[in-house]
Amino acid sequence: MSIIFDMTVADPGDPGGWGVWLNSHYLEHQQFVQKAQLSAPGTQMELYDLGLWPLEGGTDWWVDAHYAMHQSLETASGISAPDMQAVDFTDPESWGIFLDLNAQHHAAIRQHYGIT
Ligand SMILES: [Zn+2]
Repeated sequence: MSIIFDMTVADPGDPGGWGVWLNSHYLEHQQFVQKAQLSAPGTQMELYDLGLWPLEGGTDWWVDAHYAMHQSLETASGISAPDMQAVDFTDPESWGIFLDLNAQHHAAIRQHYGIT
């Protein structure tokens, strides 16, 4: 399988770019679930529709679902998931830190499953 998510940077002021990030990022999470289940059949993996961005009610649902998915990747791969639950999407600096942490874990998981 080839890399389908290489967008490590998204500009908080660019809703269109964020939409592209959300969708390609979600597709890679789907790819990771497939890889984890193929390498260890029966593995239980969390999978939520991260392509949906909460327009009302805050972003807690998305943040929690995303973190749960990274935790299940940690369990499946043995690669520690960074804590990404402290993100504040109203703060561009916090958003940037989140993007970096997420990109690092995705790169490590990609390498673990041989996705190039
Ligand atoms: Zn992620």
